[in-house]
Amino acid sequence: MDGGQAQSVAERPTEQRRTRPAEVSNYEIVNHYFGLAADRLGVPDDVRQVLRSSYREVQVQIPVRLTDGKIHVYTGFRVQHNGARGPYKGGLRYHEDVDLEEVRALAQLMTWKTAIVGVPFGGAKGGIDCPAGALRPAEVERITRQFVDKVDQLLGPQRDIPAPDVNTNAQVMAWLMDEYAKLHGFEPAVVTGKPISLGGSYGREAATGRGVVYMLREAAPRLEILPKDMRVVIQGFGNVGSWAARIASDIGCRIVGVQDATGSIHREDGIDPCALQEYLAHGGTLHDFEEAEQVSAEELLGLECEVFIPAALGGMIHADNVDLLNCRMVIEGANAPTTPMANQALADKGVLVVPDVLANAGGVVVSYFEWVQNLQHFRWDEREVNDKLGTIMRRAFREVAARAQQDDTTLRVAAYELGIERVLETAQTRGYI
Ligand code: NAD
Repeated sequence: MDGGQAQSVAERPTEQRRTRPAEVSNYEIVNHYFGLAADRLGVPDDVRQVLRSSYREVQVQIPVRLTDGKIHVYTGFRVQHNGARGPYKGGLRYHEDVDLEEVRALAQLMTWKTAIVGVPFGGAKGGIDCPAGALRPAEVERITRQFVDKVDQLLGPQRDIPAPDVNTNAQVMAWLMDEYAKLHGFEPAVVTGKPISLGGSYGREAATGRGVVYMLREAAPRLEILPKDMRVVIQGFGNVGSWAARIASDIGCRIVGVQDATGSIHREDGIDPCALQEYLAHGGTLHDFEEAEQVSAEELLGLECEVFIPAALGGMIHADNVDLLNCRMVIEGANAPTTPMANQALADKGVLVVPDVLANAGGVVVSYFEWVQNLQHFRWDEREVNDKLGTIMRRAFREVAARAQQDDTTLRVAAYELGIERVLETAQTRGYI
Protein backbone atom coordinates (compact mmCIF):
# COMPACT_ATOMS: atom_id res chain seq x y z
CA MET A 1 0.00 0.00 0.00
CA ASP A 2 1.14 3.48 -0.91
CA GLY A 3 0.42 5.19 2.36
CA GLY A 4 2.02 2.53 4.57
CA GLN A 5 4.32 2.82 7.52
CA ALA A 6 7.81 2.70 5.90
CA GLN A 7 8.86 5.94 7.58
CA SER A 8 6.93 7.06 10.62
CA VAL A 9 5.28 10.36 9.86
CA ALA A 10 3.42 11.70 12.86
CA GLU A 11 0.15 13.44 12.13
CA ARG A 12 -1.92 14.46 15.09
CA PRO A 13 -5.48 15.22 14.00
CA THR A 14 -6.84 18.53 15.27
CA GLU A 15 -10.07 20.19 14.17
CA GLN A 16 -8.38 23.57 13.70
CA ARG A 17 -6.10 22.28 10.97
CA ARG A 18 -8.86 21.29 8.59
CA THR A 19 -8.27 24.15 6.18
CA ARG A 20 -4.55 24.71 6.78
CA PRO A 21 -1.48 22.79 5.66
CA ALA A 22 -0.40 19.74 7.68
CA GLU A 23 2.20 19.89 10.40
CA VAL A 24 4.03 17.24 8.37
CA SER A 25 6.79 18.88 6.35
CA ASN A 26 7.35 18.46 2.62
CA TYR A 27 10.62 16.78 3.55
CA GLU A 28 8.84 14.10 5.59
CA ILE A 29 6.29 13.60 2.82
CA VAL A 30 8.87 13.16 0.05
CA ASN A 31 11.12 10.93 2.14
CA HIS A 32 8.21 8.75 3.15
CA TYR A 33 7.35 7.99 -0.48
CA PHE A 34 11.01 7.63 -1.39
CA GLY A 35 11.39 5.12 1.46
CA LEU A 36 8.42 3.05 0.30
CA ALA A 37 9.79 2.73 -3.22
CA ALA A 38 13.39 2.18 -2.07
CA ASP A 39 12.16 -0.62 0.24
CA ARG A 40 10.39 -2.31 -2.63
CA LEU A 41 13.43 -1.96 -4.89
CA GLY A 42 15.69 -3.31 -2.15
CA VAL A 43 18.05 -0.33 -2.36
CA PRO A 44 20.84 -0.92 0.20
CA ASP A 45 21.14 1.59 3.04
CA ASP A 46 24.44 3.13 1.89
CA VAL A 47 23.13 3.72 -1.65
CA ARG A 48 19.88 5.01 -0.21
CA GLN A 49 21.84 7.53 1.82
CA VAL A 50 23.47 8.85 -1.37
CA LEU A 51 20.15 9.04 -3.21
CA ARG A 52 18.35 10.73 -0.37
CA SER A 53 20.87 13.42 0.48
CA SER A 54 21.64 16.56 -1.50
CA TYR A 55 24.79 16.97 -3.53
CA ARG A 56 25.09 20.65 -2.61
CA GLU A 57 23.12 23.03 -0.41
CA VAL A 58 23.80 26.74 -0.45
CA GLN A 59 22.29 29.36 1.85
CA VAL A 60 22.84 33.08 1.34
CA GLN A 61 21.92 36.27 3.15
CA ILE A 62 19.87 38.81 1.20
CA PRO A 63 19.66 42.17 2.99
CA VAL A 64 17.46 44.70 1.16
CA ARG A 65 16.25 48.16 2.05
CA LEU A 66 12.53 48.17 1.36
CA THR A 67 10.29 51.16 0.75
CA ASP A 68 9.55 51.34 4.50
CA GLY A 69 13.16 52.62 4.78
CA LYS A 70 14.33 49.61 6.81
CA ILE A 71 16.76 46.86 5.91
CA HIS A 72 15.08 43.45 5.82
CA VAL A 73 17.23 40.35 5.80
CA TYR A 74 15.94 37.39 3.82
CA THR A 75 17.54 34.00 3.32
CA GLY A 76 18.00 32.47 -0.11
CA PHE A 77 18.58 28.78 -0.80
CA ARG A 78 19.68 26.71 -3.75
CA VAL A 79 19.78 22.97 -3.29
CA GLN A 80 21.23 20.68 -5.95
CA HIS A 81 19.98 17.24 -5.13
CA ASN A 82 21.30 14.87 -7.80
CA GLY A 83 23.00 15.63 -11.11
CA ALA A 84 23.65 12.11 -12.38
CA ARG A 85 21.30 12.52 -15.35
CA GLY A 86 22.23 16.05 -16.43
CA PRO A 87 22.41 19.70 -15.33
CA TYR A 88 20.46 20.51 -12.17
CA LYS A 89 16.96 21.78 -12.87
CA GLY A 90 14.27 23.17 -10.62
CA GLY A 91 12.12 26.14 -9.75
CA LEU A 92 12.70 29.15 -7.55
CA ARG A 93 10.03 29.82 -4.91
CA TYR A 94 9.38 33.08 -3.02
CA HIS A 95 7.34 32.52 0.12
CA GLU A 96 7.73 33.43 3.79
CA ASP A 97 7.57 29.72 4.78
CA VAL A 98 10.52 28.70 2.59
CA ASP A 99 13.28 27.01 4.56
CA LEU A 100 16.18 24.69 3.82
CA GLU A 101 14.21 21.54 4.58
CA GLU A 102 11.41 22.45 2.19
CA VAL A 103 13.82 23.35 -0.61
CA ARG A 104 15.72 20.12 0.01
CA ALA A 105 12.51 18.10 -0.34
CA LEU A 106 11.43 19.89 -3.50
CA ALA A 107 14.90 19.42 -5.03
CA GLN A 108 14.67 15.68 -4.42
CA LEU A 109 11.22 15.59 -6.06
CA MET A 110 12.75 17.20 -9.15
CA THR A 111 15.35 14.42 -9.41
CA TRP A 112 12.65 11.74 -9.62
CA LYS A 113 10.37 13.87 -11.80
CA THR A 114 12.93 14.55 -14.53
CA ALA A 115 13.82 10.84 -14.58
CA ILE A 116 10.16 9.73 -14.73
CA VAL A 117 9.43 11.86 -17.79
CA GLY A 118 12.85 11.15 -19.26
CA VAL A 119 14.28 14.64 -19.71
CA PRO A 120 18.09 14.89 -19.34
CA PHE A 121 18.28 16.89 -16.12
CA GLY A 122 19.08 16.35 -12.47
CA GLY A 123 17.03 17.81 -9.64
CA ALA A 124 17.37 21.14 -7.84
CA LYS A 125 15.23 23.78 -6.17
CA GLY A 126 15.68 27.29 -4.88
CA GLY A 127 13.78 29.61 -2.65
CA ILE A 128 13.82 32.87 -0.75
CA ASP A 129 11.82 33.34 2.47
CA CYS A 130 10.44 36.74 1.47
CA PRO A 131 6.75 37.72 1.76
CA ALA A 132 6.35 37.96 -2.02
CA GLY A 133 2.69 38.97 -1.93
CA ALA A 134 3.44 42.05 0.17
CA LEU A 135 6.42 43.28 -1.85
CA ARG A 136 6.51 45.79 -4.70
CA PRO A 137 7.91 44.69 -8.06
CA ALA A 138 11.02 46.85 -7.60
CA GLU A 139 11.69 45.14 -4.27
CA VAL A 140 11.26 41.67 -5.79
CA GLU A 141 13.69 42.72 -8.53
CA ARG A 142 16.33 43.83 -5.98
CA ILE A 143 15.95 40.59 -4.03
CA THR A 144 16.24 38.52 -7.22
CA ARG A 145 19.36 40.33 -8.43
CA GLN A 146 21.06 40.01 -5.04
CA PHE A 147 20.27 36.31 -4.97
CA VAL A 148 21.81 35.79 -8.40
CA ASP A 149 24.90 37.80 -7.41
CA LYS A 150 25.42 35.35 -4.55
CA VAL A 151 24.74 32.04 -6.30
CA ASP A 152 25.84 32.83 -9.87
CA GLN A 153 28.79 30.43 -9.72
CA LEU A 154 26.38 27.53 -9.20
CA LEU A 155 24.22 28.41 -12.19
CA GLY A 156 24.75 28.00 -15.93
CA PRO A 157 23.16 26.29 -18.95
CA GLN A 158 25.22 23.13 -18.28
CA ARG A 159 25.22 23.48 -14.49
CA ASP A 160 21.93 24.50 -12.94
CA ILE A 161 18.89 26.05 -14.62
CA PRO A 162 16.18 27.68 -12.46
CA ALA A 163 12.53 28.16 -13.48
CA PRO A 164 9.38 29.75 -12.00
CA ASP A 165 7.56 28.30 -8.98
CA VAL A 166 5.30 29.74 -6.29
CA ASN A 167 5.25 33.56 -6.51
CA THR A 168 7.83 33.77 -9.26
CA ASN A 169 7.04 34.28 -12.93
CA ALA A 170 8.49 35.16 -16.34
CA GLN A 171 9.45 38.65 -15.15
CA VAL A 172 11.45 37.26 -12.24
CA MET A 173 13.18 34.87 -14.65
CA ALA A 174 14.02 37.86 -16.91
CA TRP A 175 15.70 39.67 -14.00
CA LEU A 176 17.57 36.49 -13.14
CA MET A 177 18.78 36.09 -16.72
CA ASP A 178 19.78 39.76 -16.96
CA GLU A 179 21.78 39.67 -13.74
CA TYR A 180 23.50 36.47 -14.82
CA ALA A 181 24.30 38.09 -18.19
CA LYS A 182 26.07 40.99 -16.44
CA LEU A 183 28.37 38.52 -14.74
CA HIS A 184 28.81 35.83 -17.39
CA GLY A 185 27.58 37.16 -20.75
CA PHE A 186 24.32 36.58 -22.60
CA GLU A 187 23.13 33.03 -21.86
CA PRO A 188 19.34 32.68 -22.18
CA ALA A 189 19.56 28.92 -21.52
CA VAL A 190 20.58 29.65 -17.91
CA VAL A 191 16.91 29.94 -16.93
CA THR A 192 13.57 28.73 -18.31
CA GLY A 193 10.08 30.17 -18.05
CA LYS A 194 11.38 33.45 -19.51
CA PRO A 195 9.20 35.94 -21.37
CA ILE A 196 8.80 35.04 -25.06
CA SER A 197 10.66 38.23 -26.03
CA LEU A 198 13.76 37.00 -24.17
CA GLY A 199 13.89 33.49 -25.58
CA GLY A 200 11.06 31.93 -23.61
CA SER A 201 9.22 29.04 -25.22
CA TYR A 202 5.71 29.24 -26.54
CA GLY A 203 3.58 27.05 -24.32
CA ARG A 204 5.84 27.22 -21.24
CA GLU A 205 3.54 29.38 -19.14
CA ALA A 206 0.63 26.97 -19.58
CA ALA A 207 2.75 23.80 -19.61
CA THR A 208 2.30 22.55 -16.05
CA GLY A 209 -1.47 23.06 -16.17
CA ARG A 210 -1.61 21.51 -19.64
CA GLY A 211 0.32 18.50 -18.37
CA VAL A 212 -2.16 18.13 -15.49
CA VAL A 213 -4.99 18.01 -18.03
CA TYR A 214 -3.15 15.46 -20.18
CA MET A 215 -3.05 13.31 -17.04
CA LEU A 216 -6.76 13.87 -16.44
CA ARG A 217 -7.47 12.61 -19.96
CA GLU A 218 -5.21 9.57 -19.54
CA ALA A 219 -6.75 8.63 -16.20
CA ALA A 220 -10.39 9.29 -17.21
CA PRO A 221 -11.02 5.82 -18.68
CA ARG A 222 -10.24 4.33 -15.26
CA LEU A 223 -13.24 6.17 -13.87
CA GLU A 224 -15.22 5.26 -16.97
CA ILE A 225 -16.19 8.86 -17.41
CA LEU A 226 -15.61 11.31 -20.24
CA PRO A 227 -13.88 14.63 -19.48
CA LYS A 228 -17.02 16.47 -20.64
CA ASP A 229 -18.92 14.84 -17.77
CA MET A 230 -16.34 15.71 -15.13
CA ARG A 231 -16.74 18.23 -12.36
CA VAL A 232 -13.43 19.66 -11.24
CA VAL A 233 -12.43 21.47 -8.04
CA ILE A 234 -9.14 23.37 -8.06
CA GLN A 235 -7.18 24.48 -5.02
CA GLY A 236 -4.77 27.28 -5.99
CA PHE A 237 -5.44 29.56 -8.95
CA GLY A 238 -1.94 30.72 -9.81
CA ASN A 239 0.08 29.55 -12.77
CA VAL A 240 -0.68 25.83 -12.43
CA GLY A 241 -4.26 26.01 -11.17
CA SER A 242 -5.50 28.71 -13.52
CA TRP A 243 -4.05 27.04 -16.62
CA ALA A 244 -5.30 23.62 -15.56
CA ALA A 245 -8.76 25.18 -15.10
CA ARG A 246 -8.74 26.92 -18.49
CA ILE A 247 -7.50 23.87 -20.40
CA ALA A 248 -9.79 21.45 -18.55
CA SER A 249 -12.68 23.76 -19.34
CA ASP A 250 -11.63 23.76 -23.04
CA ILE A 251 -12.08 19.98 -23.16
CA GLY A 252 -15.53 20.22 -21.57
CA CYS A 253 -14.90 19.78 -17.83
CA ARG A 254 -17.01 21.87 -15.48
CA ILE A 255 -15.01 23.83 -12.91
CA VAL A 256 -17.37 23.77 -9.92
CA GLY A 257 -15.01 25.10 -7.25
CA VAL A 258 -11.89 27.23 -6.95
CA GLN A 259 -9.86 28.17 -3.91
CA ASP A 260 -6.89 30.44 -3.46
CA ALA A 261 -5.16 32.13 -0.55
CA THR A 262 -7.94 34.75 -0.36
CA GLY A 263 -11.06 32.59 -0.45
CA SER A 264 -13.15 29.82 -1.99
CA ILE A 265 -15.95 29.91 -4.57
CA HIS A 266 -18.49 27.44 -5.89
CA ARG A 267 -20.83 27.36 -8.88
CA GLU A 268 -22.55 24.11 -9.77
CA ASP A 269 -23.15 25.23 -13.39
CA GLY A 270 -19.45 25.89 -13.77
CA ILE A 271 -17.14 28.83 -13.11
CA ASP A 272 -15.74 30.45 -16.25
CA PRO A 273 -11.97 30.20 -15.57
CA CYS A 274 -11.08 32.74 -18.28
CA ALA A 275 -13.43 35.32 -16.74
CA LEU A 276 -12.02 34.57 -13.30
CA GLN A 277 -8.46 34.86 -14.56
CA GLU A 278 -9.25 38.23 -16.21
CA TYR A 279 -10.89 39.43 -13.01
CA LEU A 280 -7.89 38.50 -10.89
CA ALA A 281 -5.45 39.95 -13.43
CA HIS A 282 -7.21 43.31 -13.07
CA GLY A 283 -6.82 43.44 -9.30
CA GLY A 284 -9.94 41.54 -8.22
CA THR A 285 -9.84 38.83 -5.59
CA LEU A 286 -11.61 35.51 -5.42
CA HIS A 287 -13.25 36.84 -2.31
CA ASP A 288 -15.25 39.45 -4.25
CA PHE A 289 -15.83 37.57 -7.54
CA GLU A 290 -19.58 37.83 -8.01
CA GLU A 291 -20.12 35.18 -10.71
CA ALA A 292 -19.96 32.43 -8.09
CA GLU A 293 -21.05 31.79 -4.54
CA GLN A 294 -18.57 32.34 -1.71
CA VAL A 295 -18.06 29.22 0.39
CA SER A 296 -15.87 28.35 3.34
CA ALA A 297 -12.58 26.52 2.83
CA GLU A 298 -14.13 23.42 4.40
CA GLU A 299 -17.15 23.56 2.09
CA LEU A 300 -14.82 23.89 -0.90
CA LEU A 301 -12.95 20.74 0.05
CA GLY A 302 -16.25 18.89 0.47
CA LEU A 303 -17.72 19.80 -2.93
CA GLU A 304 -18.86 16.75 -4.85
CA CYS A 305 -16.72 16.36 -7.95
CA GLU A 306 -14.95 13.78 -10.05
CA VAL A 307 -11.53 15.45 -9.95
CA PHE A 308 -9.81 17.43 -7.22
CA ILE A 309 -6.67 19.27 -8.33
CA PRO A 310 -4.44 20.60 -5.54
CA ALA A 311 -2.35 23.36 -7.15
CA ALA A 312 -1.24 25.44 -4.16
CA LEU A 313 1.30 24.42 -1.51
CA GLY A 314 2.59 21.20 0.02
CA GLY A 315 0.78 19.29 2.77
CA MET A 316 -2.66 20.74 1.96
CA ILE A 317 -4.44 17.37 2.01
CA HIS A 318 -3.79 15.76 5.36
CA ALA A 319 -5.18 13.65 8.19
CA ASP A 320 -7.50 16.44 9.40
CA ASN A 321 -9.25 17.22 6.14
CA VAL A 322 -8.95 14.22 3.83
CA ASP A 323 -12.32 12.93 5.06
CA LEU A 324 -13.93 16.05 3.57
CA LEU A 325 -12.82 15.32 0.00
CA ASN A 326 -15.69 14.12 -2.16
CA CYS A 327 -13.91 13.23 -5.40
CA ARG A 328 -12.99 10.11 -7.35
CA MET A 329 -9.57 11.24 -8.50
CA VAL A 330 -6.84 13.61 -7.25
CA ILE A 331 -4.37 14.98 -9.78
CA GLU A 332 -1.48 16.58 -7.94
CA GLY A 333 -0.65 19.86 -9.68
CA ALA A 334 1.18 21.04 -6.56
CA ASN A 335 4.33 19.47 -5.17
CA ALA A 336 3.89 17.18 -2.14
CA PRO A 337 0.25 18.22 -1.54
CA THR A 338 -0.80 14.92 0.07
CA THR A 339 0.58 13.65 3.36
CA PRO A 340 1.16 9.91 3.80
CA MET A 341 -1.84 9.49 6.11
CA ALA A 342 -4.12 11.32 3.70
CA ASN A 343 -2.70 9.29 0.86
CA GLN A 344 -3.61 6.09 2.66
CA ALA A 345 -7.10 7.40 3.43
CA LEU A 346 -7.63 8.23 -0.25
CA ALA A 347 -6.46 4.74 -1.24
CA ASP A 348 -8.88 3.23 1.31
CA LYS A 349 -11.73 5.24 -0.23
CA GLY A 350 -10.76 4.04 -3.71
CA VAL A 351 -9.72 7.52 -4.89
CA LEU A 352 -7.20 7.38 -7.73
CA VAL A 353 -4.19 9.66 -7.13
CA VAL A 354 -2.02 10.80 -10.02
CA PRO A 355 1.13 11.84 -8.11
CA ASP A 356 3.01 15.13 -8.34
CA VAL A 357 6.18 13.59 -9.80
CA LEU A 358 4.12 12.65 -12.85
CA ALA A 359 1.13 15.00 -12.85
CA ASN A 360 2.96 18.33 -12.68
CA ALA A 361 5.96 17.36 -14.81
CA GLY A 362 4.64 19.29 -17.82
CA GLY A 363 6.47 22.40 -16.62
CA VAL A 364 9.88 20.81 -16.59
CA VAL A 365 9.22 19.08 -19.91
CA VAL A 366 8.56 22.40 -21.66
CA SER A 367 11.45 23.94 -19.71
CA TYR A 368 13.55 21.26 -21.37
CA PHE A 369 12.13 22.33 -24.76
CA GLU A 370 12.93 25.97 -23.94
CA TRP A 371 16.50 25.05 -23.02
CA VAL A 372 16.91 23.04 -26.24
CA GLN A 373 15.52 25.91 -28.35
CA ASN A 374 17.87 28.39 -26.63
CA LEU A 375 20.90 26.19 -27.18
CA GLN A 376 19.95 25.82 -30.85
CA HIS A 377 19.01 29.52 -31.28
CA PHE A 378 15.77 28.27 -32.77
CA ARG A 379 12.08 28.55 -31.95
CA TRP A 380 9.25 26.05 -32.25
CA ASP A 381 5.63 27.13 -32.65
CA GLU A 382 3.16 26.51 -29.86
CA ARG A 383 1.40 23.62 -31.53
CA GLU A 384 4.70 21.77 -31.87
CA VAL A 385 5.50 22.40 -28.19
CA ASN A 386 2.08 21.21 -27.01
CA ASP A 387 2.15 18.12 -29.24
CA LYS A 388 5.61 17.12 -28.04
CA LEU A 389 4.53 17.74 -24.44
CA GLY A 390 1.50 15.49 -24.96
CA THR A 391 3.64 12.73 -26.41
CA ILE A 392 6.02 12.76 -23.43
CA MET A 393 3.30 13.04 -20.77
CA ARG A 394 1.21 10.24 -22.28
CA ARG A 395 4.24 7.99 -22.57
CA ALA A 396 5.19 8.70 -18.94
CA PHE A 397 1.65 7.93 -17.77
CA ARG A 398 1.62 4.65 -19.72
CA GLU A 399 4.99 3.62 -18.30
CA VAL A 400 4.01 4.43 -14.73
CA ALA A 401 0.61 2.75 -15.11
CA ALA A 402 2.21 -0.39 -16.57
CA ARG A 403 4.69 -0.52 -13.72
CA ALA A 404 1.91 -0.07 -11.17
CA GLN A 405 -0.03 -2.92 -12.72
CA GLN A 406 3.00 -5.17 -12.99
CA ASP A 407 4.00 -4.58 -9.36
CA ASP A 408 0.44 -4.35 -8.02
CA THR A 409 1.06 -0.96 -6.49
CA THR A 410 -0.13 2.62 -6.76
CA LEU A 411 0.82 5.13 -9.44
CA ARG A 412 2.86 7.03 -6.85
CA VAL A 413 5.01 4.14 -5.74
CA ALA A 414 5.41 2.96 -9.35
CA ALA A 415 6.49 6.47 -10.41
CA TYR A 416 9.05 6.70 -7.61
CA GLU A 417 10.32 3.22 -8.45
CA LEU A 418 10.89 4.19 -12.08
CA GLY A 419 12.53 7.48 -11.13
CA ILE A 420 14.85 5.92 -8.56
CA GLU A 421 15.82 3.06 -10.89
CA ARG A 422 16.71 5.43 -13.71
CA VAL A 423 18.79 7.72 -11.51
CA LEU A 424 20.50 4.76 -9.91
CA GLU A 425 21.35 3.23 -13.28
CA THR A 426 22.92 6.46 -14.56
CA ALA A 427 24.76 7.13 -11.33
CA GLN A 428 26.19 3.61 -11.30
CA THR A 429 27.16 3.74 -14.97
CA ARG A 430 28.96 7.02 -14.42
CA GLY A 431 30.75 5.52 -11.42
CA TYR A 432 29.13 8.09 -9.20
CA ILE A 433 27.87 5.43 -6.76
P1 NAD B 1 1.55 30.48 -7.96
O1 NAD B 1 2.29 31.33 -7.00
O2 NAD B 1 1.39 30.95 -9.36
O3 NAD B 1 0.10 30.12 -7.38
C1 NAD B 1 -0.10 29.59 -6.10
C2 NAD B 1 -1.60 29.61 -5.81
O4 NAD B 1 -1.84 28.95 -4.57
C3 NAD B 1 -2.19 31.01 -5.69
O5 NAD B 1 -3.46 31.06 -6.30
C4 NAD B 1 -2.33 31.18 -4.18
O6 NAD B 1 -3.35 32.10 -3.84
C5 NAD B 1 -2.71 29.76 -3.79
N1 NAD B 1 -2.53 29.50 -2.36
C6 NAD B 1 -1.47 29.82 -1.59
N2 NAD B 1 -1.71 29.45 -0.32
C7 NAD B 1 -2.93 28.87 -0.31
C8 NAD B 1 -3.74 28.29 0.70
N3 NAD B 1 -3.31 28.23 1.97
N4 NAD B 1 -4.95 27.80 0.35
C9 NAD B 1 -5.38 27.84 -0.94
N5 NAD B 1 -4.66 28.38 -1.93
C10 NAD B 1 -3.45 28.89 -1.62
O7 NAD B 1 2.32 29.07 -7.92
P2 NAD B 1 2.35 27.96 -9.05
O8 NAD B 1 3.54 28.18 -9.89
O9 NAD B 1 1.00 27.82 -9.67
O10 NAD B 1 2.65 26.66 -8.16
C11 NAD B 1 1.63 25.98 -7.44
C12 NAD B 1 2.13 24.60 -7.05
O11 NAD B 1 2.51 23.87 -8.24
C13 NAD B 1 3.37 24.58 -6.16
O12 NAD B 1 3.30 23.47 -5.30
C14 NAD B 1 4.51 24.39 -7.15
O13 NAD B 1 5.67 23.86 -6.54
C15 NAD B 1 3.87 23.44 -8.12
N6 NAD B 1 4.48 23.40 -9.45
C16 NAD B 1 4.60 24.54 -10.20
C17 NAD B 1 5.16 24.46 -11.48
C18 NAD B 1 5.25 25.66 -12.39
O14 NAD B 1 5.61 25.47 -13.56
N7 NAD B 1 4.90 26.86 -11.95
C19 NAD B 1 5.63 23.24 -11.95
C20 NAD B 1 5.49 22.10 -11.16
C21 NAD B 1 4.91 22.20 -9.91
